Amino acid sequence: MRIVIVADIHSNIEAFEAVLEHAASHGPIDRLWCLGDVVGYAADPSACIALLRQHPHTAVAGNHDLAAVGKLPTDDFNAAAAWAAAWTARRLSAKEREYLSSLPFVAVEGDFTLVHGSLRSPEWEYLLSADAAAEHLRLQETPYGLVGHSHIPFVAFEREGSLAAMAALKDGDVLKLGGERLVVNPGGVGQPRDGDPRASYAVYDDEAHTLTLHRVEYDLEKTQRKILEAGLPRHLAERLAHGR
Ligand code: ZN
Repeated sequence: MRIVIVADIHSNIEAFEAVLEHAASHGPIDRLWCLGDVVGYAADPSACIALLRQHPHTAVAGNHDLAAVGKLPTDDFNAAAAWAAAWTARRLSAKEREYLSSLPFVAVEGDFTLVHGSLRSPEWEYLLSADAAAEHLRLQETPYGLVGHSHIPFVAFEREGSLAAMAALKDGDVLKLGGERLVVNPGGVGQPRDGDPRASYAVYDDEAHTLTLHRVEYDLEKTQRKILEAGLPRHLAERLAHGR
């Protein structure tokens, strides 16, 4: 099985399509695992939900998915994110709302646990430090974990006691899965934040036992134009060019 792992698509259909085209050009896509935030920020929430649902997939809820269906207040969102959540909520059909509302916080697929933020706080915590990763790994019952939310690709390995070792993941990095317990963030599809504007995703090959990170260029000027035409905050278009 070849499983394509995506996170933080954020209504960016150009990035999502580019990722799936790239993945399909290297082999079959047997299943998608989505780590939350299908919607929020960009201008194509419905198209992104539809494209995800065209594939056999497992998905968990992100904070933006929950906000768009009124299951999470946006008081703690920044102004642009809150604006985008309200904008998205107005555009979702009843069926799309029902789909997003149905997503669980945590899903287990074989050796993997899928969650948007962390097991300590599924919809809120950003796993950005070795300490936070160690806490997450302590709660993780499977050998491997997958998170999104920070939009920054990394791997954290469990070490003795309450420690974890954390490293950034770059385009083409291959993790050979073996004895070590770990948690991986495949980066953001629709709004990367590690300074590289290319869409980020990962592939899990369950025969080779590898996780491979990929970065893909997409037509981000088109995404930016749509954001501006939709009347969404200009900052949400501008940041795509900087990968921040
Ligand atoms: Zn996100």
